[in-house]
Amino acid sequence: MSDKIMVTRSSMPDFEEYCREIKDLWDSRWLTNNGAKHGLLEKHLAEYFDVPNVTLFTNGHLALENVLEAMDFPRGGEVITTPFTFASTTHAIVRSGLTPVFCDIKSSDYTIDESLIEQYITDRTCAILPVHVYGKVCNVEAIEEISEKHSLKVIYDAAHTFGVTYKGVSTANFGDASMFSFHATKVFHTIEGGAICCKDGELARRLCDIKNFGIHGPESTLYVGGNAKMNEFQAAMGICNLRHIDEEIAKRKAVVERYISRLSDVKGITLCGDQPHVENNYAYFPVIFDPETFGADRDDVFAALAEKNIGARKYFYPLTSAFECYQGRFNPEETPVALRLSLRVLTLPLYSDLSLDCVDRICDIVLSCQNIK
Ligand SMILES: *Cc1c(COP(=O)(O)O)cnc(C)c1O
Repeated sequence: MSDKIMVTRSSMPDFEEYCREIKDLWDSRWLTNNGAKHGLLEKHLAEYFDVPNVTLFTNGHLALENVLEAMDFPRGGEVITTPFTFASTTHAIVRSGLTPVFCDIKSSDYTIDESLIEQYITDRTCAILPVHVYGKVCNVEAIEEISEKHSLKVIYDAAHTFGVTYKGVSTANFGDASMFSFHATKVFHTIEGGAICCKDGELARRLCDIKNFGIHGPESTLYVGGNAKMNEFQAAMGICNLRHIDEEIAKRKAVVERYISRLSDVKGITLCGDQPHVENNYAYFPVIFDPETFGADRDDVFAALAEKNIGARKYFYPLTSAFECYQGRFNPEETPVALRLSLRVLTLPLYSDLSLDCVDRICDIVLSCQNIK
């Protein structure tokens, strides 16, 4: 029996490199609350993204909740978003006392369909929260135009786009704010972690307070904040991983190119193509199976891989609008493109040290499913 292949596997720096990085912490005994590593990582990331403000968080989800809180929208305000995403995007809106309004996605790149956004705008709409899903960049220009016309904030869920650029500009620079996740499974990670990138220095200062109980100074607490700070061990992991990010992305690229060479001309399989002017990070490898022409459906392929100990993932299925916790609140049928995609998509294993032999084995199993029905 061959070893299990999971859908993802965290990249790690050399053990010694991480030990060297955390050694200072035994001298300083400064383990969290804006420590030296935290400051250094913020500085390095601001340079990497070429964005004026990076505020670190203990995870991406709380970063998103905190930025929604910092924007101080009226309770019950509506946020236009998509249901083809990870639970976090929708939950952050709902947990902030806001109402998600689901817009469909485009079948070309799975990001929000900008041509449909305006029909959802009401006098309660306060923001648009699009997702750069799988690292595909939303139509940032059209979304900016709509948001300016209607005076709406734009917050991007950029959890999948570390290292992605559009026309040479990092995705950290679009909208009023962008949230990145540095979770262990992402292209760049700090074990758990995340950040808000924004141009507005005042927003960044508010976020610094809100993530630390709203405390502004020794005798001044301005907000009813919680605790969402990144600690020094997380920041040290980020400092190490950032040194190797180019290599990480290059290795992922080689894996993706092998997948493409094996699967791109197969009847009934659709791969998400490259976008113009976008530099990829090869975060995910989604494959769409058309049951009629492929002769097997997504669940058949999932089961065949599972039988061989290979963990693909139905990512994203179900749509967040179909979650049990939202029963009766939303209608997944109202976003037909997203619904159809969620029933047909499978993301295949992808991480930097996945061998090309393993990719071939995975592709052999996928192809063996053809016409099993
Ligand atoms: C990972 C992820 C998040 C949440 O990030 P965490 O760091 O795990 O809290 C949010 N949105 C999307 C699309 C994600 O993939």
